[in-house]
Amino acid sequence: MISHLLKNEHLNKEMQVFDTIKELQAAISIQKGTSKKVGFVPTMGALHKGHLSLVELALKENEVVVVSIFVNPTQFNNPDDLKNYPRTLESDLELLKDLSPDFVFAPAVDEIYPAKGIVKPAVNLGLLEKTLEGKHRPGHFNGVVQVVAGLFEIVQPDKAYFGSKDFQQLAVIKEMTRQLKLPIEIRSGETIRDADGLAMSSRNVLLSAEQRSEASGISKALFYIRDNWKVKSAAELCLEAIRRIEKNGLMKVEYLELADSNSLETIHSFDQSPVPRIFTAVQVGKVRLIDNIGIIKADD
Ligand code: AMP
Repeated sequence: MISHLLKNEHLNKEMQVFDTIKELQAAISIQKGTSKKVGFVPTMGALHKGHLSLVELALKENEVVVVSIFVNPTQFNNPDDLKNYPRTLESDLELLKDLSPDFVFAPAVDEIYPAKGIVKPAVNLGLLEKTLEGKHRPGHFNGVVQVVAGLFEIVQPDKAYFGSKDFQQLAVIKEMTRQLKLPIEIRSGETIRDADGLAMSSRNVLLSAEQRSEASGISKALFYIRDNWKVKSAAELCLEAIRRIEKNGLMKVEYLELADSNSLETIHSFDQSPVPRIFTAVQVGKVRLIDNIGIIKADD
């Protein structure tokens, strides 16, 4: 059991860390008893400023904030990816202490998936699980739905926070919440990037210095498409973007596609959607990175 208190002297606030559902729920129910609104930020840890931006947003919008840190095995379709996923609980807690959410829930796998198993909610994701990440990571969104539904059941938040960095995941969670009629508002946060444009990701620490420098080419290629959509065709821009990403032979594009931001349906030209979005997954050595960016048509 790792239940303990971390005090932020500066804010004069305490952050309680739990690894059991029972203790977490007891602590939350005391707060709910006083009608406080609960915000929830689920993460897989190895925290960075992207995660922290969601915690900050949750703290602004709720009286009580719960952050979970759980590397969910059922959403990994690649055993090596699961094995190598960075796990840095102690430094995560130090980072969180600066913001001091009320509760951190960091359970072991057995706590979330006891031997008898947990019930997977009946959700029909349709195209959402067949396209883009769904197509390339079979079973991934099933695992995401399973764990997020389980965590929602445990925490019962009023609002839950997800990053646009995982745009398709955000769409999946919104759809799941809608189908299960959960009384939870799904809030999104913008993608936080390093100074060179690379979307922050827990997996970035797995890159070598050379790969890290090369990886900035991913977002640069997406920005290139965004900045030129009025002057070149979608097909031409996507091909050019792939060429730019792959030019030094250190990165391999798994997919780079345009889709409608609302339905995630594939589109082949910018006039097929009022809100086109570019999605990509790129293999950088053994590390798989994803990114996406919207095309802004407002000033048409
Ligand atoms: P993860 O720990 O990767 O499962 O991410 C937990 C939450 O943080 C998810 O809702 C992600 O979309 C979000 N997130 C991850 N990276 C970023 C980022 N660079 N900017 C904003 N949110 C992010």
